[in-house]
Order: sequence, then structure tokens, then C-alpha cells
Amino acid sequence: MFEQENVELVNYLKKTGVLKSKALEKALLKTPRHLFVPEDLQKSAYKDYPLHIGRGQTISQPSTVAIMTQFLGTKSGQKILEIGTGSGWQSALLSRLVGRRGKIFTMEIIPDLAESAKKNIEKLNIKNVFVIVGNGSLGLEKEKPFDRIIITAAAPAIPEALKNQLKTGGRLVVPVGSRYAQKMTVIKRTRKGFLSEELPSYFAFVPLRGKEGFEE
Ligand code: SAM
Repeated sequence: MFEQENVELVNYLKKTGVLKSKALEKALLKTPRHLFVPEDLQKSAYKDYPLHIGRGQTISQPSTVAIMTQFLGTKSGQKILEIGTGSGWQSALLSRLVGRRGKIFTMEIIPDLAESAKKNIEKLNIKNVFVIVGNGSLGLEKEKPFDRIIITAAAPAIPEALKNQLKTGGRLVVPVGSRYAQKMTVIKRTRKGFLSEELPSYFAFVPLRGKEGFEE
């Protein structure tokens, strides 16, 4: 079901120049997005826009997911932390990229969403994604350090605590800005310190909650 629609979405992302990575292309084809959205929205799952997943939250737009994932530069065997599990689709894609020897820890602050994300991920028989219910704005101290960290919610500034949970050579990708518009930012940890670069275009993510986010 929806196989042709998935191929068309992948072709669209390639044609628009967003999807450049062969590994991500394969991962997208193996990780059907309709399995991660509510049943009444499945028909829209292969359009390039975000969709509601309940509790005022969204599954990100496919082109945004492709941009962030490629910016992250994931490799086989890596240990990754995601803040903002949402539907679980981003985690499932990352699990394909790290392979069996890699691990994905993903944190979700809304317990119901974490529960349905777990179920979504199980549908694909993925075993290397660990969904944790909790506030991820300060990261996951007990599992640090990480090769990669991805924050799929808007942060008002680069979260210091998370930056410090990166390995040397590691990368953090996070949309940084106001509640309404953010710039995609990548931070690299080198032996000499941290380097940061941002994309010129703006994105609109739901807010990161908690200490390093937008406190309610
Ligand atoms: N990556 C998701 C996917 O593939 O569907 C989309 C994430 S959605 C845009 C952002 C998610 O971040 C929401 O589910 C929200 O509840 C969660 N969130 C916001 N602040 C958080 C925090 N401090 N810790 C953990 N999750 C948080």
C-alpha cells in the first residue's frame, strides 16, 4: 500500500534538489510515512507537508526531515540522540542509517505520543530505537557521549547542555530562533572547541519545552 506514492515523494525530493544522499533515499523507501500518521491522514502522508499527530504536535515535512538528516551526516554504527520523538518517523529513518550496530535514543515529553511512536516503530520490526518519555531539553546524561544529536523542535538558543553531550567529532543539528521562525543550525565539536554554521532559509517548528527551550 502507498508504495508508488512513496517512490513519487522520493523522486520529488530528488528533483527539487533536497534529497542528495543515496543512503537516505534507501531509508525513505524502506520507512513508509503513512505508518506514522493518524489513519484519517494516511492519504496525505506522501505530500511534502507537516501533518498533525495529536496533542498539538506534528510530524515534520519530508523535505525538512531530509535537510536535517543530511546535515547530521549519519554513519553506520553511530549512537544518536533525538529530542522530540513525535511520530517516530525521524528515529526510524535514522535507525536505517546507523544500521544494526548503531543505536538511536529518542526522548518525547508527551507520554501518549511516545507510546504511539513506539508502536509505529514496532510495525517495521526496528529494534535499535529506544523511546524515552521525558524532558529532553537537558539531554540524556546517562547515555552520553553521542556521535550525533538532533533536536526536532525549535530552540531559542543553541542548547549548551546538549552540546556538551557530543563526542569530539560529533554534530548537533537544531532549529534556532524565535517561536515562529528558526534557522537550521549545525554545531560541530572539534578538539579545539565548537564550530557552528546555519542555513540561510527559515523553518517553523513547534517549540522545545523545558530549561533550554521555551519555558511555559
Ligand atoms: N521528529 C518527529 C517525527 O519524526 O515525527 C517530529 C517532532 S515534532 C515536530 C516535535 C516534538 O518535540 C513534539 O512531539 C513535542 O512534544 C516534542 N518536545 C518538545 N519539547 C520537548 C522536550 N523538552 N523533550 C522531549 N520532547 C519534546
